[in-house]
Amino acid sequence: QAKMSRPVQARRLEGIDKNIWVDFVKLAATYSTVNLGQGFPDFPPPDFLKEAFMRALSGENHMLHQYTRAFGHPLLVKMLAQFFGKLLGRDLDPMTNVMVTVGAYQALFCCFQAFVDEGDEVIIIEPFFDCYEPMVKMAGGMPVFVPLRPKAPKDGKLMSSADWQLDPAELASKFSERTKVIVLNSPNNPLGKVFSRGELELIADLCVKHDILCISDEVYEWLVYDGKEHIRIASLRGMWDRTVIIGSAGKTFSATGWKVGWTVGPNRLLQHLRTVHQNSVYHCATVAQEAVAQGFQRELDLYGKPESYFIQLPKLLQQKRDWLVQSLDAVGMKPIVPEGTYFLVADISEFKSDVPDVTDSDEPYDSRFAKWMVKNKGLAAIPLSAFYCGAHKNNYDHFIRFCFAKEEATLKAANDILQKWRQEKTRP
Ligand code: PMP
Repeated sequence: QAKMSRPVQARRLEGIDKNIWVDFVKLAATYSTVNLGQGFPDFPPPDFLKEAFMRALSGENHMLHQYTRAFGHPLLVKMLAQFFGKLLGRDLDPMTNVMVTVGAYQALFCCFQAFVDEGDEVIIIEPFFDCYEPMVKMAGGMPVFVPLRPKAPKDGKLMSSADWQLDPAELASKFSERTKVIVLNSPNNPLGKVFSRGELELIADLCVKHDILCISDEVYEWLVYDGKEHIRIASLRGMWDRTVIIGSAGKTFSATGWKVGWTVGPNRLLQHLRTVHQNSVYHCATVAQEAVAQGFQRELDLYGKPESYFIQLPKLLQQKRDWLVQSLDAVGMKPIVPEGTYFLVADISEFKSDVPDVTDSDEPYDSRFAKWMVKNKGLAAIPLSAFYCGAHKNNYDHFIRFCFAKEEATLKAANDILQKWRQEKTRP
């Protein structure tokens, strides 16, 4: 067999070839009876969206089966420009202020490739959606991490994601002349934290002061609870010109498999995203873009009305969140009540004694716990340490993340597993 004597792997892949999702998705598929691990709804997208897809697929316009405009199907960029123009209170040009991507994932990839040079520093707030780190590294950049620090809640209350906050001095200390970009993810995966106006102003002031770009991952923008408001950092003073907003139809319309995402921002930034897009995927699936465009058309017509999906979905998910909070609290797996997203992080400290510890392993405890749980209890969740950099993983190793965008029956089945486990623990 002919083998090349030199390494086949490009240097930019060194150290990023391991990925938690490969392991945990496989474990969940093999062992789980109840999967609250990976973030996707197990309920269908709304009927109006599925119908729009079917119309696009089998309607008379057979050109919807062919390539469309590379930077976004004309109807979709038009609807996104109208919709986000309304939200941001500014006129958006569909051709230059919006670009459609293969999910938010590709939007992130375009941003890092377009803005980050060899040696540039990129500030990432921990815990973070795990792909930010390898994407920065692949672009030749240096991730610089700053953690949200948990504060104990008052009066024996359950902890909230709002109790996890940036230390302003610590955040400021991370900005230097090497900093090029900060990545913001509000509402935040995995914690569900919805950054307050004050917190966003702190970040915005530092961006303006140091002339830094902001990649604002807002894929969970509609999933905010308890009357909280999702504030777009691009709407703060000095931020529009330096911010790329990233969104996802997967999260917005509960259709993660469609992989339709987008970026919204000033042309001075988006023109460079177009260069990456042009030279990588070039084009996204036309039929899915057409259907998402029609979904936005409907949501624009029903904006703020009770029938709007963007009103109904968070209402439904808030009930599911409350249900899972109660169920976890009842068994002593202390939930951190999320203000947004469809994720919930819970403290596993009280369950630690059940799971054999392997002291000489450098795998974080929560990771071993989550693997043990799926194999022995059939319940899949994701360890929180997966959302931290290597150096900080072991500081946050007694939490796991659950996804609650699930049918009632799935959440009930999870509850049954936890209740049974609890009973086994308390039995003499
Ligand atoms: N950003 C965040 C914070 C996410 O949680 C996800 C999906 N889990 C993405 C981006 C990627 O979204 P998409 O599925 O649209 O590529």
